[in-house]
Amino acid sequence: MEQNLPSLSGVDWSPDAPPPTVTPAVLTVDLMALQENYRTLRKMAAPAECAGVVKGDAYGTGLAPAARALWAAGCRVFFVAVPAEGHTLRLTLPEAVIYVLGGLLPGAARDYAALDLRPVLGSPEEIAEWAALCREEGRHLPAALHVDTGINRLGLTPKQVEWLTANPRDLGDMRVSLIVSHLACADEPNNEMNRIQTETFDTLRNLLPPAPASIANSPGTLNGPAYHYDLVRPGIALYGGNPFAGRANPMKPVTYLYGTILQVRSIPCGASVGYGATWRARRDSRIAVIGAGYRDGYFRSLSGRSDRSEEHTQVYIAGQFAPVVGRVSMDMITVDITDLPGDTVRRGTKAELIGNHVTVDDVARWAGTIPYEVLTSLGSRYARLYSAYEEN
Ligand SMILES: *Cc1c(COP(=O)(O)O)cnc(C)c1O
Repeated sequence: MEQNLPSLSGVDWSPDAPPPTVTPAVLTVDLMALQENYRTLRKMAAPAECAGVVKGDAYGTGLAPAARALWAAGCRVFFVAVPAEGHTLRLTLPEAVIYVLGGLLPGAARDYAALDLRPVLGSPEEIAEWAALCREEGRHLPAALHVDTGINRLGLTPKQVEWLTANPRDLGDMRVSLIVSHLACADEPNNEMNRIQTETFDTLRNLLPPAPASIANSPGTLNGPAYHYDLVRPGIALYGGNPFAGRANPMKPVTYLYGTILQVRSIPCGASVGYGATWRARRDSRIAVIGAGYRDGYFRSLSGRSDRSEEHTQVYIAGQFAPVVGRVSMDMITVDITDLPGDTVRRGTKAELIGNHVTVDDVARWAGTIPYEVLTSLGSRYARLYSAYEEN
């Protein structure tokens, strides 16, 4: 194994992915770090319970292995975005509590119940469909109620909550197991929107049947006890993304992406590299071609800049940083290794594209996006390597 791969104990290849010898890019997921991040967040949130948000294939890390590691670390409550993710998760964790953040899809109540999924109900129509199923089946099926406190995405409006207070029978026989809202600006701790939303949340909660409450995402969890209520719902922080851009990141990296060097070539001063000939060598140069591109989630917006005033995208090879030059193409990127010692970079050497030298937050900044999008855009043709994790 290359010297710049992290030393992970008990590393295993995912049986669903191709073996590493036949893919030029390798995704490594440090499940031990995922567990450590979970414990860090749980400690911060105590005595509130800490759930795990595993939507988007657990932020690109792989739903089943991530969920198993979280369960082993003591996580019992999970949030997915869509019921199909809940289906996969149910097959992995038969006993988990699973909430579907996207709510109840029309006509799907029976399917949710069959998989023991709990919809996060955000409209009178969804409430009516779930209540109807409870009536038909004669069961007190659990569900969360989603109240909107200002993000204006999903959730009951204050008017709809008042209506429900006046008409409590609309809830039928369902068991309200959680009351949920979502913060719009938690990553800006001083934004007054945070205070306004928790105040609105308190007002609306008091109009509903008593149930545990939850409002905090990752930054909300880090913003202190005022946001913890009974349950926190971190996502990105579990996976090592920085909950606050522009501050030191307290979380450990989980996702490592390596690309294999396919060729090293020497080009003369004045020669161009890549589509559009957007980059031209200002000296005799050595270029390494790495076998990963935008198909692998390495965004085209990470292309080498010709404007020298801007921060350049970097990769980490053989203990040094090298800038991406020219355009990112579908399956390849090109980096300038002229300043690296001559014999350190060869065909077959692995370059860190995302990891602990080049963080997912760096990549997001260079691409003009957020770590969430980088992680959930990671491709599917990698070899996938999962570290061992601690069993409880
Ligand atoms: C995605 C999501 C979360 C997790 O957010 P992070 O910022 O990744 O911690 C929590 N709650 C809701 C409603 C979400 O959609």
